[in-house]
Amino acid sequence: MKQFIYLAVLLLMVSCSSKTNHNLNSVLWVQTAAEYQANCYQAYHTAFIYVEAALADNRWTGALEQTNDFSDLPPAVIFDLDETVFDNSAYQAQLALDGSGFQLSSWDQWVRMRKAGSIAGAVDFINYAQNQGIEVIFITNRECKKRDNRSSPCPQESDTIENLNALGITGITGNNVLLKHEYIDWGSEKKSRREYIVEKYRVIMIFGDDLGDFIPGVKKEITPEKRKEMAAIFNAYWGTKWFIIPNPMYGSWRQVLKTPQCRHLQGFTEK
Ligand SMILES: [Mg+2]
Repeated sequence: MKQFIYLAVLLLMVSCSSKTNHNLNSVLWVQTAAEYQANCYQAYHTAFIYVEAALADNRWTGALEQTNDFSDLPPAVIFDLDETVFDNSAYQAQLALDGSGFQLSSWDQWVRMRKAGSIAGAVDFINYAQNQGIEVIFITNRECKKRDNRSSPCPQESDTIENLNALGITGITGNNVLLKHEYIDWGSEKKSRREYIVEKYRVIMIFGDDLGDFIPGVKKEITPEKRKEMAAIFNAYWGTKWFIIPNPMYGSWRQVLKTPQCRHLQGFTEK
């Protein structure tokens, strides 16, 4: 009996600390599940329904930072890029196949290849928004970083625009793409970039795959419970002004978990 208990404890410890292919299920879901694709369509199709009302109502804004007098500003929509417009699951799949983890160097290589696919529904919606005269703004945590002494300060920006063009998203200049560290106070927290955009535009909608694409202060030093509370506080925004694409592969939801991560699992007991 004692041996059995030891074995059970050992098994629990092993399963609790196992890191082998921790992303396998998530990447499989994104790459193979029609259910994932349907979720993406659902988000973008729902947004279509609200564009007309959002344009007609000059008091309508989807940015928490929009506290200025914005009624006469031209309309814009803010998009995150990775896993919101760009499908980078091939990069994630390669990491799973190689048994490796995210690294800035391999990620930059991927960005340089300009091979990201598109998230279902994204290209049609962006083209529609542009045709309605809505400015399309991308706020991305792709990072500006020189690649060598001869490279421009931000080769990632032109790679990103080229990749967008390849997907059928055109008319995009450097002014439409706001990268991390493009300016000194543009860190991974996107609040300062939203503040910059709300000065020029009335932001009618936001699209993202991470709570931080919508709400400031939810990416670190916060518990999962508190993040859920924040999502609930803005309940009325989801599906009307804010549209979220599922991302089970990575994100700040995962960064805020304590290790070992299985400590967050809540099972049940009889009685
Ligand atoms: Mg993203």
